[in-house]
Amino acid sequence: MYRQPVLKNRRTLLERAEKFISDVYFTDCNLRGRLYGDSCPLESLASFLSSKRIPFTEAAKQNFAPHKVGDTFGPTWWTCWFKVSLKIPESWRGKEVHLLWESDGEAMVWRDGQPVQGLTKEGEKTSYILSECLKDEEPHSITLYVEVACNGLFGAGQGSMIAAPDPNRKFSVQKAQLVVFNRDVQEVLTDFEMLVDIVKELGEGEQRGYQALFTVNEMVNLCDPSDPRSFSKARSLAHSFFSQRNGESQHTAHAMGHCHIDSAWLWPYEETIRKCGRSWVTVIRLMEKNPEFVFTCSQAQQFQWVQSWYPGLFSQIQDYVKKGRFIPVGGTWVEMDGNLPSGESMVRQFLEGQRFFNHEFGIVCKEFWLPDTFGYSAQLPQIMQGSGVSNFLTQKLSWNLVNTFPHNTFFWEGLDGSKVLTHFPPGNSYEMKGKVEDLVKTVKNNKDKGRANHSAVLFGFGDGGGGPTQLMLDRLERVQDTDGLPKVQASTPDKLFSQLRADSALLCTWTGELFLELHNGTYTTQAQIKRGNRRCETLLHDIEIAGSLALCRDGTFQYPAEQLQKLWRLLLLNQFHDVIPGSCIEMVVEDALRYYEGTVISSGPEGLYLFSQLRDLYLYGYLFQPCTPSNHSNHSFSVFTFQTTTAHVMLCGIICSAALVRVPSIGLLCVSFQADGSVLMENGILKMVINKDGTLASLHLINANREAISNGCHGNQFVMFDDVPLYWDAWDVMDYHLQTRKPVLEVVQPIHVVSSGGLRSSVSFTLRISDKSTIKQEIVMDAMCPYIKFNTEVQWAESHKFLKVEFPVRVRSPNATYEIQFGHLQRPTHRNTSWDWARFEVWGHKWADLSEHNFGVALLNDCKYGYSVHENTMTLSLLRAPKAPDANADMGTHHFTYAIMPHAGSFQEASVIQSAYNLNFPLRSIQCSPNTIPWSAFSVSSAAIILETIKQAEDRKRALVLRLYESHGSSVTTTLCTTLPVREAWHCDLLERHDPTQPAHMTSEGITLTFSPFQIVSLLLIL
Ligand SMILES: [Zn+2]
Repeated sequence: MYRQPVLKNRRTLLERAEKFISDVYFTDCNLRGRLYGDSCPLESLASFLSSKRIPFTEAAKQNFAPHKVGDTFGPTWWTCWFKVSLKIPESWRGKEVHLLWESDGEAMVWRDGQPVQGLTKEGEKTSYILSECLKDEEPHSITLYVEVACNGLFGAGQGSMIAAPDPNRKFSVQKAQLVVFNRDVQEVLTDFEMLVDIVKELGEGEQRGYQALFTVNEMVNLCDPSDPRSFSKARSLAHSFFSQRNGESQHTAHAMGHCHIDSAWLWPYEETIRKCGRSWVTVIRLMEKNPEFVFTCSQAQQFQWVQSWYPGLFSQIQDYVKKGRFIPVGGTWVEMDGNLPSGESMVRQFLEGQRFFNHEFGIVCKEFWLPDTFGYSAQLPQIMQGSGVSNFLTQKLSWNLVNTFPHNTFFWEGLDGSKVLTHFPPGNSYEMKGKVEDLVKTVKNNKDKGRANHSAVLFGFGDGGGGPTQLMLDRLERVQDTDGLPKVQASTPDKLFSQLRADSALLCTWTGELFLELHNGTYTTQAQIKRGNRRCETLLHDIEIAGSLALCRDGTFQYPAEQLQKLWRLLLLNQFHDVIPGSCIEMVVEDALRYYEGTVISSGPEGLYLFSQLRDLYLYGYLFQPCTPSNHSNHSFSVFTFQTTTAHVMLCGIICSAALVRVPSIGLLCVSFQADGSVLMENGILKMVINKDGTLASLHLINANREAISNGCHGNQFVMFDDVPLYWDAWDVMDYHLQTRKPVLEVVQPIHVVSSGGLRSSVSFTLRISDKSTIKQEIVMDAMCPYIKFNTEVQWAESHKFLKVEFPVRVRSPNATYEIQFGHLQRPTHRNTSWDWARFEVWGHKWADLSEHNFGVALLNDCKYGYSVHENTMTLSLLRAPKAPDANADMGTHHFTYAIMPHAGSFQEASVIQSAYNLNFPLRSIQCSPNTIPWSAFSVSSAAIILETIKQAEDRKRALVLRLYESHGSSVTTTLCTTLPVREAWHCDLLERHDPTQPAHMTSEGITLTFSPFQIVSLLLIL
């Protein structure tokens, strides 16, 4: 029986127990103070400092100099290798012996040339176990190497976590010694900790909390820290508490080890490779000791890094994958941003990820795993379903600043109606610690009580890696079925989702995008990364089409599959959820731009070189645009199945010809100065008046006789805002920035004509933003072109400012339309409810449109993603100037183009979608013989269908994969005509797996295809 407390005081009992296990107070006499027994110094410690991240074999050959504990080393991002010689005293026979290593740098222990253990103080890993129970025959003299990275788990922010890294930080090893570890003390401590936490978390309203309180008080009575024989009595009391079971209806927590490793964020890509090594080798050690332990691990790229840098570790991982305990999840190449990558990029995330997992482990992931990104495209459910994935796990919407998302477990229905079973762990974290608090939150926060009785608990240090600890496993092991807490079982995503699906009758459905009401600055921050992404998406698209057609024209052509895979993987890597959003440090930006510019765009071996090789050797041109003059040997080609017009074709940097296609009469351009200094431009479609300061006084759609610019307002108005968020600098733009709007009015050089007449006219002007920043813009009107282009150059040296451009238009509509992956969606232009006004800054891809019946205006862009349309003002977000985590974010020169397109009818009828493609995918000029015959490889009979992708099939040489989608939001039957020698045509999924019972319907006209709104269709064509 328990001894009665002397007084009826909950607080003293609780604090008594807390002090008994405190690592701060009374450690001279409490239980915590007994955790370690004897200690002994190392035989010797020596170090070698390297500015580079070198492999072990190279490090081991270096000269190591004696090193004292406490000596500092650095600077940031360097590596200090330690050679550790130790001798375990023989008198420690039967004891558990640890190397205790405390350092502020992340460390990896190497033994016999192999990585064996990650150590990081922040991740609560400071022990490398040398022996669990020392025997005489075990080696007592051991030499180890410890590789210490000069960065912490979260990099090296100067003053705060997300501040730019301190380049001169010094690091040290504060403790390096041998210790006897008293496992029995640890076990009682864990019992105590769990009970104390139960008392605190269940609070005074729960009977069960008091039972825990009296149990833990009696344990203090029974437990004498100086006498280990007393521990068993305390432990058995704890055990009887923990083993009082729940009723059958209790919620089940599916505990899965996890380690969220950002592929780059506050540290560069190269360090991530080591973070994976350190974290995952530690997971393997835990698996060896804990047979129930299951670990979930996403991002094929990280597996591939470990495969090439730590092959021994990778094969251990392969073994545990086979056992079903180390579980690759997610199916994507990286955990990408959920908003900005193009539709095809998202498909490739799954294609590369699933193929890697299948190749290395023989598995196809059934769940998409994206706990930490800044919103989720409404096309993701269809892309998931097409990639063999029908379950989705995330939790980031718990970060919403305004509205609480109403579900944790629900069906998410995408743009086309595809549904995926979706789970947000109610603990609202992807890095729980297996504590009572995590379990209580998991039950309490569940917004689908009564509908879903299973939840995920992801435990393990994350973001910068680290992963689970033995202590977390010990905590969870104690409370597998303890009355008052949810049931806890070691589980897998598959088990969790199977349970949820089995009992899903009451689940609700959420339709459309999952918009994160936070981090909306990430659509704009780091403009060069966004531009690089768009350009590379375009370039890879064109190379694949060029390569595919070359393949069809010349049987000996070797499609550059390997090079393309390499390029795609780099592009996909840069789409990681802290890189393309621009929320990373400067080093990562440099890496990302190098991947874009160096490898792809400039003269790298796989970049344009590849493209020029293709066109020189194999491309005879297709969908020909006959050039003028007609005897010219250059031809331009289009990569789209719709009609394309262009006014200029560039070749070798020289404007050599102008071409218009299938336009019966070439419209002439008029440019004339008005008496007030404004300029009137007209091309037969549009008539525009540009003020001296470059703003549009008028933009008239001639045939419809409609003015696009709102009465008394100016279009193309640059505006500046103060942009000071609450904390997350690179991430957030807050609602209140809208109150600081200031038009950019100072004219440096007023409008003047750059070129006039012929097929292109343009005017230019320069504005001053501040004494440090200017805007120079060329406004371009092309003959027969339905939109006006604004080629813009900004010198940008601001601090916490936001530059946008506004078009107040003469359109009234409660909704604006934004392009997303393989489609578009509407968002409100009013601020009625909190769900409406929380979307004051939104994302879109190549275009946004505001239409009323029969008339509208579209705003197109070639590398921007941030938009807002409030009432009748359409705004494109151009540049930000945050200072953390990159102190130099967006400083310098920027080039970008946007375009304004008034139109009659709907945007679908007016070909806004095609115009946005034209702006982003300019015609490419190729050289060929003058007598080359125009040729079209593919055409589609419906304007609603976009043929987005043509590539060689992954697994077969003489086969193409085509990806088409319905872009209008309509049900359509269409014919895909081709002049290629197609022998067979099959429907296939996004992983290019075809169903032998699903041949495509081929007729003499072509392939008949049926689409529902926004449906993506993939075809496998056998040549
Ligand atoms: Zn993350």
